Amino acid sequence: MKARIVVVCCATVEPARLLLNSRSAQHPNGLANSSGTVGRYLHGHLADSVSIYLDELEGMKPSNQDGGTDHIYIPRYNHLFGKPDYAGGWGIQVNFASYMFPHQAYRLRGYGAGFKAHIRQMQPGYLFLGCFGKVTASERNYVTVDPNQHDAYGIPVPVFHFRFSDNDYALWRSANRSLLEIASHLRGTVFPNFGRAPSGFASHEVGTVRMGRNPKTSVLNSFCQAHDVKNLFVTDGSAFTTSSEKNPTLTIMADYIKRQRKLGEL
Ligand SMILES: Cc1cc2nc3c(=O)[nH]c(=O)nc-3n(C[C@H](O)[C@H](O)[C@H](O)COP(=O)(O)OP(=O)(O)OC[C@H]3O[C@@H](n4cnc5c(N)ncnc54)[C@H](O)[C@@H]3O)c2cc1C
Repeated sequence: MKARIVVVCCATVEPARLLLNSRSAQHPNGLANSSGTVGRYLHGHLADSVSIYLDELEGMKPSNQDGGTDHIYIPRYNHLFGKPDYAGGWGIQVNFASYMFPHQAYRLRGYGAGFKAHIRQMQPGYLFLGCFGKVTASERNYVTVDPNQHDAYGIPVPVFHFRFSDNDYALWRSANRSLLEIASHLRGTVFPNFGRAPSGFASHEVGTVRMGRNPKTSVLNSFCQAHDVKNLFVTDGSAFTTSSEKNPTLTIMADYIKRQRKLGEL
């Protein structure tokens, strides 16, 4: 296939996979990968949550709020109370988990008609606080391809190497403490949804084909144009160098607009 300009825009893992699988004599490490950076700096968001069933709303007439949820956002606030001993923060999205699903039925003991009535009684009180926190972008976290494992089209599959950093753990513990503190001021039944480690990436994965000024440490310039291959652009979440607690899509779209202007000049 020949093209004057090629624009890759297929999320975060696939662009790295595509470039790494596009090896040639001219690009032995993969297309646009003279820096060896393609696939590296995989990151995203860590996420955890609490479910609360508010006493004063229990037993009210139930209504299906699915589809009308997630309109409340608590912006980052951890920097307002002194400098934390970790970098970054989190924001909280309210009620984005399915409102109608009886999540509490998994958490409470019981069976039979009485149990069902109790679950129904609680349901209108459902409140969900989900935090999305910054994850450090590190060279050590990367996507590569496995030449010995292929998908249905015979193309090597992506393989992930990822560990949360000490900073990520410190931020996660602080976010969880804060979620519990907020919940402790409410009257109701509280179910923390935390595991032993942060859950990630909340479908907000970014990195892997990062932009930067230095072609030795980055793949793309600030217009998402490959340093090595001037008619190749990568304009999805993979171009991120770092991310805050903010959701990624508006930034991806802003990058896209900037890149469109550059394309217009070519
Ligand atoms: C349930 C859910 C909720 C989310 N909520 C939010 C939110 O509230 N706010 C927010 O900012 N972000 C949210 N996100 C994340 C957001 O969807 C992504 O960050 C964003 O869509 C990424 O944009 P993109 O252009 O990089 O990739 P995508 O939107 O994933 O687009 C990539 C496209 O490339 C196609 N593709 C993939 N591989 C190939 C291939 N090999 N060849 C050809 N085509 C290919 C895919 O089919 C897809 O159409 C959410 C994600 C999920 C899953």
